[in-house]
Amino acid sequence: MDLTFASFSEIAEAVKGKKVSAKEVATHFQKRIQSLDSKLNSFVTLNDNALADAEKIDSRISKGEDVGVLAGVPFGIKEMLCTKNLKTTAGSKILSNFVPPYDATVVSRLKKSGVVVMGKLNQDEFAMGSSNESSFYGSVKNPWDTSRVPGGSSGGSAAAQAARLVAGTIGTDTGGSIRQPASFCGIVGVKPTYGRVSRYGIIAFASSLDQAGPMVSTVKDAALTMEVISGHDPMDATSSQKSVPTWSKNLSADVKGMKIGVIKEYMKGGLDKDTVKTFQTSLDTLKSMGAEIVEISVSMTEFAVPIYYLVATSEASSNLARYDGIRYGYRADFPSLAGVDLEDFYGKTRGEGFGAEVKRRIMLGTYCLSSGYYDAYYTKAGQVRRLLTDQYIQAFKQCDAIVSPVTTSPAFKIGELVADPLAMYLNDIFTTSTNLAGLPGMSVPFGISEAGLPIGIQVTASHFEEQRMLNVAAALESAAPVKGRKPHVI
Ligand code: GLN
Repeated sequence: MDLTFASFSEIAEAVKGKKVSAKEVATHFQKRIQSLDSKLNSFVTLNDNALADAEKIDSRISKGEDVGVLAGVPFGIKEMLCTKNLKTTAGSKILSNFVPPYDATVVSRLKKSGVVVMGKLNQDEFAMGSSNESSFYGSVKNPWDTSRVPGGSSGGSAAAQAARLVAGTIGTDTGGSIRQPASFCGIVGVKPTYGRVSRYGIIAFASSLDQAGPMVSTVKDAALTMEVISGHDPMDATSSQKSVPTWSKNLSADVKGMKIGVIKEYMKGGLDKDTVKTFQTSLDTLKSMGAEIVEISVSMTEFAVPIYYLVATSEASSNLARYDGIRYGYRADFPSLAGVDLEDFYGKTRGEGFGAEVKRRIMLGTYCLSSGYYDAYYTKAGQVRRLLTDQYIQAFKQCDAIVSPVTTSPAFKIGELVADPLAMYLNDIFTTSTNLAGLPGMSVPFGISEAGLPIGIQVTASHFEEQRMLNVAAALESAAPVKGRKPHVI
């Protein structure tokens, strides 16, 4: 078995059958990280205990214990998820010394199913960004072309997965942060239905939008990971009571007779030509497999980016108020605290601890929530969000799943959009509405640009209908022009 490209079940079966030890698997990937990550900068912190953790799995197996479906599968975890005794920075200076005393539910569930955590993956600061350039720990490079961004905010997860520095990764998605980097790096990224996966222990950005999900190499591995991390958690009041289907067992690439929706408002132009071509090919492929393409209207998607940037910044301004330098995290250097004014203390700590993009969002959000503007901005955004959700519910009466581009172009150059925040925000044009409506959405690798960059297709389904979404993705995966192509750094 070539460990580098092995699937989750291949690794888990080999580990359980003692054909290879979890320690050998972890060592293999640790070596890959050591030799390749200097080109990518995808890891912020390595887990020094990874090999010892793997050994524990091996000893449990030798005692005949059931170690779980992901026995010995090495994962990288985005910096947004708390990991017990392993530094968790959210890509920010303000959490540069933060070592959580507990695991996020996603992480504890992965560990319970046998996963070995190899380390923590780079991201945009507090998951705010589409290029990984806002990280305090430096930008991440795209393994397909290191002069380009890997996307964001889960850029470290996408790059590490594409280069196979680990077998699987976890990202978070508030407005596209799993799907857009997955598209840019040619991997599979799933944002589950809101409430499907517990947010407990995930550093809050915009609580009504945040979800964690798998960023892995195949649809099957994504389905398996989803089964492990999903399900009700009393520690998250928004976590759903719905039972978790065995998506991986029911996975089928048969889309015959399925109705696939295309949002007519998305087809207005302004897209890069390789992206248009890839999307067209995906529709032709689904049609040739027996699916019916239907045009649907979700006219409120026109307002998705402005609503998203009102809702997300408002929630962020509130969530990020906790970073005050008093209880944990970075504190500005004061020779003595005697006589220091509290506001000056906060101001200096937060001024030094947060980067420019985070400050921009806190200011925008605070403005939206301030008296006199609250109704005009925050309340209005909530109302339009409701209309958008209703339109989706109507649209899903006419189709089983919706396909669209993930973003407007393949990966752009590092530095290309940093000076223009609005252009950067427009990267989220196809992804944010899914979060606003709470729908599941994913990116599956499909096309390849003339310059040799991967391009994903976004598949969305109705609330809690992840199976349909995964099945459409499996169909696209089986016929993807990008199949068999590999990044330069691997
Ligand atoms: N790019 C979007 C933003 O900057 C999405 C971020 C995310 O999903 N975390 O807010």
